[in-house]
Amino acid sequence: MEVTRFAPSPNGPLHLGHAWSAIVAHDLARKRGGRFLLRIEDIDGARSQPQLADEFRRDLAWLGLEWDEVPAQSTRLAAYEAAADSLRSRGLLYPCTCTRAEIGGPVYRGTCRGRTDAPRDAAWRLDVERALAMSGPLEWTDEIAGVQRADPGFAGDPVLVRKDAPASYHLAATLDDAADGVTLVTRGRDLFSATHVHRLLQALLGLPVPRWHHHLLLVESDGRKLAKRRGSGAAGFGLAQRRLAGEDGRALADSLRAHRFPSGISLGEGLD
Ligand code: GLU
Ligand code: ZN
Repeated sequence: MEVTRFAPSPNGPLHLGHAWSAIVAHDLARKRGGRFLLRIEDIDGARSQPQLADEFRRDLAWLGLEWDEVPAQSTRLAAYEAAADSLRSRGLLYPCTCTRAEIGGPVYRGTCRGRTDAPRDAAWRLDVERALAMSGPLEWTDEIAGVQRADPGFAGDPVLVRKDAPASYHLAATLDDAADGVTLVTRGRDLFSATHVHRLLQALLGLPVPRWHHHLLLVESDGRKLAKRRGSGAAGFGLAQRRLAGEDGRALADSLRAHRFPSGISLGEGLD
C-alpha cells in the first residue's frame, strides 16, 4: 500500500507552499488507495514552538485533508542515538567543531575528517567516501525525474548528529520514514539533493528504500520559493491568517489543485 507523508517543522506558521505540499502528498495517497501521514519534525530545539503543531492540524483540517498522525520526532530520540552509535562504531562518523565562519560556505571541505577524539560540543559528520566504499554505488528513483545515481558528497560530509540535538534532519527524517512505513517520500524540489544523503543512510542502516516524489514549489514573482524565513507565513500567504479571516479552506485547496494560484504566485523550481 502506498504511504505518503507531510512532515512540517513547527518553527513558523505554514504558508501556501506547505498547503501545496500537503495536498500533493494527500492526493497521491488517496488516488492510490493508500495512507497519508502527518509527522511533526520538532527536534530543532532552539526554533521549535510546540503550540504551532496544533495550528498546523487546524490548517490541514481547514483545507479538507484527512491524515493519520505518527509520533513527533521529539519522542524518537533513542532511535536516533542508537543509529548514530551504530555508525560511529563502524568508524563512519567523526566529530567536527568547526564554526560556521570557519567552514565559510555551503560546502564542508572535510577539515576534521579522521579525528578520533570525542569533544563534548561536537557535531558528528558522516565520512561519505568511507561510507560509499562500504555501500558501493547507489541509485534511487524519483517518480518525476527518474532514476538518480546517488551523489551524497555534493556538499561535503553531512552532519548527522548536531551539537544541540541527537540527530540532524538527514538522520531523523530517514529513520522516521522507514519506521513509519513511508513508500513514497513526498516533498519539495528544494530537498532533492538531500535525498542523495538519505539513500546512503538507508544502505548503511539496512533500511527499506522508498521511492520519492519531489514536487515543484510555489514561487513568488522573483522566482524564489515561499519561505518561512522570508515571512511568507506572515504575509498574505499564511494559512492560519487566511483561515482566521474566514476564507473557505476547501475552496482554496481546490484552486491549488487546479493550478489557480493567487496573483504573483506560480509553480517553479524555487531558486534560493
Ligand atoms: N521538516 C522539513 C521542513 O519543514 C521537511 C522534511 C521532509 O519533508 O523531508 O522543511
Ligand atoms: Zn570540522
